[in-house]
Amino acid sequence: MEELLSGLNPSQQEAVVSTEGYVRVIAGAGSGKTRALTHRYAFIVKELGIDPANILSVTFTNKAAHEMRRRVKKMIGGEQDTGFITTYHGFCVRVLREDIHRLFYPKNFIILDVEDQKNLLREIFEEMELKLNDKTFKRILGKIGILKGNPHYVQQMILRGEMPTVNDSGDLDSQIIQQYLKKQKRVYGLDFDDLLNFVFTLFDQNKEVLEKWQNRLFYLQVDEFQDSSLKQFELVKMLAGKHDNLFVVGDPDQTIYEWRGADPKYMVDFDQYFPEVQTIFLKENYRSTPEILSLGNTLIRNNYFRVDKDMVATNPPGVKVVHYHGKDEIQEAKWIVSKIKELSTEKNVNLSNIAILYRANYLSRYVEQELIAGDIEYKIFGGFKFFDRTEIKDALAHLRMIGFADDLSFTRIINVPKRQIGKKRMAFLREKAEEEGLSLYETLKKYKEHERLRRTGAKEFIDAIEYLKTISRKRKVSELLQEAMQLTGYEEYRREDGDQERLDNMAELLHSIVQYEQTMGEDIRLDEYLQLIALYTDDDREDHIDSVKLMTIHTAKGLEYPYVFVIGMTESILPHDRALRQRKERGLEEERRLAYVAVTRAECELYLTESEGFQNGGQKKYPSRFIFEVDEELYERIGEIDKSLIEEAKDFILSSHRLEKDISADHFDIGTRVEHPVFGEGRIEEIDEKKNNYMIFFDRLKAPRPISRHFKKLKKV
Ligand code: ATP
Ligand code: MG
Repeated sequence: MEELLSGLNPSQQEAVVSTEGYVRVIAGAGSGKTRALTHRYAFIVKELGIDPANILSVTFTNKAAHEMRRRVKKMIGGEQDTGFITTYHGFCVRVLREDIHRLFYPKNFIILDVEDQKNLLREIFEEMELKLNDKTFKRILGKIGILKGNPHYVQQMILRGEMPTVNDSGDLDSQIIQQYLKKQKRVYGLDFDDLLNFVFTLFDQNKEVLEKWQNRLFYLQVDEFQDSSLKQFELVKMLAGKHDNLFVVGDPDQTIYEWRGADPKYMVDFDQYFPEVQTIFLKENYRSTPEILSLGNTLIRNNYFRVDKDMVATNPPGVKVVHYHGKDEIQEAKWIVSKIKELSTEKNVNLSNIAILYRANYLSRYVEQELIAGDIEYKIFGGFKFFDRTEIKDALAHLRMIGFADDLSFTRIINVPKRQIGKKRMAFLREKAEEEGLSLYETLKKYKEHERLRRTGAKEFIDAIEYLKTISRKRKVSELLQEAMQLTGYEEYRREDGDQERLDNMAELLHSIVQYEQTMGEDIRLDEYLQLIALYTDDDREDHIDSVKLMTIHTAKGLEYPYVFVIGMTESILPHDRALRQRKERGLEEERRLAYVAVTRAECELYLTESEGFQNGGQKKYPSRFIFEVDEELYERIGEIDKSLIEEAKDFILSSHRLEKDISADHFDIGTRVEHPVFGEGRIEEIDEKKNNYMIFFDRLKAPRPISRHFKKLKKV
């Protein structure tokens, strides 16, 4: 017990031992929330004697879950299954694996990532003889996302066998979407939205399944709770319904997924949902120097919609935060790289202690160029995804063929390497499969002697897959992959192709599986592995080279690095142009929270950098308002910056700010009585945020009228 409580302050200790009931911890960045949560898990296991199988601990990313599992294992030791330290999606997969058959799906359903979704669409476009283009894909995927915002479609589609109507018009988009849903159902594929929705439907339709999970999960805890969406909150609320033990931690100032449905109100109003709640505040910051901490505190205080909760530093003073200003982005990048070199040669800082953070992925490019030129190892998290690379997708498709033999994987690899099964023969297979209600692979097996297929590589392919299936239960996943690559000729094909990078990537995949098998400490089976890997992103891979880490601020959530560069601290980048154009205080506040998350990742030294322009032309850029919002005493400025530029920047910010206030002064809430110069008096029934309209029911008119929110002549009565 001593060991579990040592290294924690009294409030953290309170959090650890408050195992019963509804408990929330609200505290700022770096105050030891995650640490307390991790110790609490170990405490429940070791001091209460609870089996980890009875504790659900939800974190935000796989990377965070992985890290937490590692720490917990260190504290509790042994070989216990800590599989319930996971993400919301990971948990849903566990639930579905046990009971999805009640929704008439097989246990080895497949999980579709964005690339798979696009492949399905590609097929549909070909079948409907439509032109392929990425914009349409995105639009359709967007619409599918909206459709899936409401779990109702699951019931409709699966239990009633109806296709959800997308909209009434029966236009091309909705036809495509219907096709998509059909295909998805045919391969028993679930995308990320489906995972949660299927679980809801499952629980809703089968109370005994919900009860089983309620009974099983005696303790629930959630990290980064401020970024939970309504659905996710409902899920934990439901699960905690029996034993009433729910522990959540978070920092409302770090809500950065509002755009995706996150809402800090579940955290802030937690006591209204559960009146008996115990609330714990943590005040000490253990992560950063006092200099970094004051900068973060000062910045976030500019947000209006928040509850103030300053942190006190526990670390000794360090160096001042630096603001670097460059003339253009090349100069900015060169300065960053020279600084990194200085840190590594003069202070002996390991490259892996340095992180470069940015608002959007494209911003990494200019720093990357300089890092390459400076011969500095770096690694990008969440950029071009490792798991999205052709050779990795191919390799995993082989495993999926062995596990599921689904159409998607089949289509992906049947003709790689070439087996003389091109478009025409595929069309033949598709037609037969459709007629007979078989999968493509089953069809191939059935017709392998058919004259259309006789002189192809079909038979060898089938032999290889069938053999691999027979051994699949006896081998580790890593061994299976190796055999599959050899037997199907894929590895040879890649060797002949001669692209060393692809071969390296394949080796890296194998390495990651081996590592995975080691950390899980359990024999994981092929189908389990495949479902887990589908939730993986690049960010979850372990790295073994000493390298600078590059990532977006969103990805950096919850992490910490001794040396942090936040680059592109420029108006229209951070805060993002979109937030500025909308001129809404809320959007701007989310940008400020992002900046706050970024600066609070730093432990020892923090560098904020920006430049006047991008070399490919365009407008002159101004330093971010977030820099001006912080007292100049809190940082040191490097680089020449004209007084006039500062004046211009301040004018620019002020003017956009004034506009914001202007518009918000005219903002009316739903229910307000207003007067219109032509239609007379009426009541605001609805506000359409997208179109920026009020729907007003005028006393004199029969139906409501949309009136622009910019219309200045609308007066409150
Ligand atoms: P964030 O809001 O960014 O997720 P957090 O509140 O979860 O931050 P942690 O990551 O748990 O904070 O802790 C920040 C750092 O402080 C970690 O390095 C952690 O090990 C350390 N730490 C936490 N509590 C203590 C403590 N009581 N004494 C010393 N160090 C601590
Ligand atoms: Mg944390």
